[in-house]
Amino acid sequence: MLKLAVAGATGRMGNRITTLSLDIEEIELAGALERKGHGDLGRDIGEVIGAGQTGVKVTDDIKEIADGIDVLIDFSSPSATIGNLKALSDKPIPVVIGTTGFSKDEIEYIGLYAQNTPCVLAPNMSVGVNLLLKVLADIARVTGDDYDVEIIEAHHRLKKDAPSGTAMKMAQVLAAALNRNLEETAVYARQGIIGERSRDEIGIQTIRAGDIVGEHTVMFGGLGERIEITHKASSRDTFARGALKAALWVKKQTPGLYDMQDVLGLK
Ligand code: NAP
Repeated sequence: MLKLAVAGATGRMGNRITTLSLDIEEIELAGALERKGHGDLGRDIGEVIGAGQTGVKVTDDIKEIADGIDVLIDFSSPSATIGNLKALSDKPIPVVIGTTGFSKDEIEYIGLYAQNTPCVLAPNMSVGVNLLLKVLADIARVTGDDYDVEIIEAHHRLKKDAPSGTAMKMAQVLAAALNRNLEETAVYARQGIIGERSRDEIGIQTIRAGDIVGEHTVMFGGLGERIEITHKASSRDTFARGALKAALWVKKQTPGLYDMQDVLGLK
């Protein structure tokens, strides 16, 4: 039995992860974390998410529950995730991190934490997107510099970071396959007299509208043809199921930083 805690437990993703975890036999929900001052602190998480009594109270103190959990799933905010890892650093436990928008330094800190315990860090936990990441690298290696690469992502109006972590992961995979330095070649917006497109640009465009769960299109534009690959998420449950699968997987690993391709056996 895996004792699970969820950080950001009442958020859009946390709500689905905690809800779905209650139906998984090998998982026992043992902790629910929210930020200081959150309106649901002290309430039973089951009541908050509409699943009845679970006996697990929402808390803002990870140290209070750390001894009773095997794995933490964190879908909160970059500063909250790093705060949780720092609080756990004396006695690290495996963590599945779905939060996006980390700075370089924060990613480095996650890497340090993972030296002592297994961690999964993945900006997108769906099977479809992770399959796509594999396919994109194959396409880019063949189309090379003859095709212009553009990534277009769309999300709901409440999303806080841009471009999405998934779009950035796609850009990293494409840059690596094309032997390009993403920091030098990424173009995030175009306006005015910008001149001709350079061959090595990787365009990353962001759309924010309504309640879009998450859509990503990668375009390889050649002369006389264009390849477009699109992934559309229609429910957050696809990410939540991936996170729960990762939690069951990470507990059995040796220390190190893993991603969803490791969890799904795609490497
Ligand atoms: P959300 O609805 O805003 O949920 C985030 C939750 O974390 C909120 O309940 C927030 O509380 C809470 N929180 C803030 N500070 C906290 C702290 N110190 N400790 C514990 N909880 C804290 O956002 P979301 O849509 O669920 O997304 C959460 C993150 O997951 C984002 O970074 C998003 O990009 C990412 N995401 C990843 C995937 C994936 O597959 N990896 C999929 C979807 C989303 P307040 O609202 O009160 O601040």
